[in-house]
Amino acid sequence: MSAQPTSSGRSEGRDARPGRNGRSSRTTWRNWAGNVAVAPARTVSPSTTEALAETVRRAAEDGLRVKAAGTGHSFTPAAVTDGMLIRPERLAGVRKLDRDAGTVTVAAGTTLKQLNETLAAAGLSLTNMGDIMEQTVSGAVSTGTHGTGRTSASLAAQVTGLELVCADGSVLRCSEQENAEVFAAARLSLGALGVISELTFAVEPEFLLTAREEPMHFEQVTAEFDQLVAENEHFEFYWFPHTDGCNTKRNNRSDGPAKPLPRVRGWVDDELLSNGVFQGVSSLGAAVPALVPAIARVSSRALSARTYTDIPYRVFTSPRRVRFIEMEYALPREAAVPALWELKQTVERSRLRVGFPVEIRTAPADGIPLSTANGRETAYIAVHMYRGAPHEAYFAEAERIMTAHGGRPHWGKMHTRDASHLAASYPQFGEFTRIRDRLDPQRIFGNDYLRRVFGD
Ligand SMILES: Cc1cc2nc3c(=O)[nH]c(=O)nc-3n(C[C@H](O)[C@H](O)[C@H](O)COP(=O)(O)OP(=O)(O)OC[C@H]3O[C@@H](n4cnc5c(N)ncnc54)[C@H](O)[C@@H]3O)c2cc1C
Repeated sequence: MSAQPTSSGRSEGRDARPGRNGRSSRTTWRNWAGNVAVAPARTVSPSTTEALAETVRRAAEDGLRVKAAGTGHSFTPAAVTDGMLIRPERLAGVRKLDRDAGTVTVAAGTTLKQLNETLAAAGLSLTNMGDIMEQTVSGAVSTGTHGTGRTSASLAAQVTGLELVCADGSVLRCSEQENAEVFAAARLSLGALGVISELTFAVEPEFLLTAREEPMHFEQVTAEFDQLVAENEHFEFYWFPHTDGCNTKRNNRSDGPAKPLPRVRGWVDDELLSNGVFQGVSSLGAAVPALVPAIARVSSRALSARTYTDIPYRVFTSPRRVRFIEMEYALPREAAVPALWELKQTVERSRLRVGFPVEIRTAPADGIPLSTANGRETAYIAVHMYRGAPHEAYFAEAERIMTAHGGRPHWGKMHTRDASHLAASYPQFGEFTRIRDRLDPQRIFGNDYLRRVFGD
C-alpha cells in the first residue's frame, strides 16, 4: 500500500472521479492537505446500501482490501487503500427526518454542509460541531471530529444509530437497543469494522448562539482557563506562537434576536483577514522564516473583538482556505495549561518558526471506546503548519510534550503513536480490537495506518 507524501496538494481529495456506472480505473486520490496520495486498484461510488454491500462482497471475493474515503480531510493516511476505494459522493442525502424522536438519518457520504443546511431548513440543528463542514458525516465521526464544549461532545457522541456493511457484505443495524456493543465501537472506528452506509444523529430544535470573540493575554487566558470553560457552553482560544497574544471565542445560547455578522464584515474578517491575508503572510513566512515572529505579532493584533448572534452552524464553522497540516492531542483537562506553557517556552527557546496559531478546545468525558475524550474531561491542543513549511521539529516537540502529559492523538491528524502507546492510553482499546477481530478477522478493511495504530 502506498501513502506517499506529495507536495502537489490538489484542492480536494477528488482526483479519481467515478464514471456514470460509479466505477473508475486506477487514478490517484489525494487528501485535502496534499500530504497523502494513493492509486487504488479500483474506485467505486455506489449510490445505495445494496450496491455498497455488493461492492464489498465482490472486493472480498477478488481478494481486494476495501476502504471508504470521505472528503479526504484527514491528515493521516486513514482512508487510503491499494485495493478498492469507495467514494462517498453518490451515497448522499437525508433518508429520514423524525421530529418526534428528534433524529435525522443520512446516507454516509452526506457532507456536514448538506446536513446542516437541510436541518436549518427544517428548523433543526446538531448540538455541537467542529470548525468546518466540508467533511462527510461518516468520515467526520470515524476519526472523532469534535468542536469545543463544556457538556456537549463530539459528532460521534451525537450519533444514535448506524448501518454497517460488514466484511461478508451483510448489513448490520446498530444502536443502543440493537447490536449495542458494535454500535459503541462503530461510532468511532476509522472504517476498521466495516463501511458505514447511513448514520442517525440526535437533533434539536434550532437555537441561537451568541459568539463573543476577544483578544486576551496568554497569561490571563491560561490563568482563567478553568473559569472560562466553566462559564461558557463553548469556549476556545487560539494562541499565536512568538507572541503573548491569544484570541478567545465564547459561544453561548441566546434568546436572540439573531444578529449575524454583516455580510461585508463577515467577508472581511473570515475571507480576507483569516483566509486571504493569512494565505499571503503564510507563504511569505514559509519563504523567509526569519520574518515569522514579526508576522505573528502583526497577525495576533489584527483580530479585534466582535460579537454576533446566529444559528449554530454559522457560529461554529467557518471556511478554511489556507492549506496546512495539523497535529492535535487530547489531554486530561488539568494538563492543558501546563502543557501549553511548556510548548510556549519550547518555541521561545528554540529556533522554531511557527506562523500558525495553536488552537485549544475542550470536551466532556464520553464512553465511546476510541474517543479521544473516553473516560476523562478533555482539553485539545492543536498545532498547525503552513503546507510546505518545515513542520517536523515543531511537531516532534509538541508531540513529546503532549504525550508526556498523557495525550491521545486525534485519529485523523498527524502523529507518530503506535498500538503499544494507544493500548495503554485507552482503557477500552481491548474491547475495540476484540470486536474488530470478530467483524473483520481477514482485515478486509485494513491498511498500513490501521496496522500501526491497532498492531495488525
Ligand atoms: C481544514 C480542516 C479543518 C478541520 N477541523 C476539524 C475540527 O474542527 N475538529 C476535528 O476534530 N477535526 C477537524 N479536522 C479533521 C477532520 O474532521 C477529520 O480528519 C475527518 O475524519 C475528515 O472527514 P472526511 O470526510 O474528510 O473523511 P476522510 O478523511 O476521507 O476519512 C477519515 C476516516 O473515515 C473513514 N471513513 C470515511 N467514510 C467511511 C464510511 N462510509 N464508513 C467507514 N469509514 C469511513 C475513512 O476510511 C478514514 O479512516 C479538520 C480537517 C481539516 C483539513
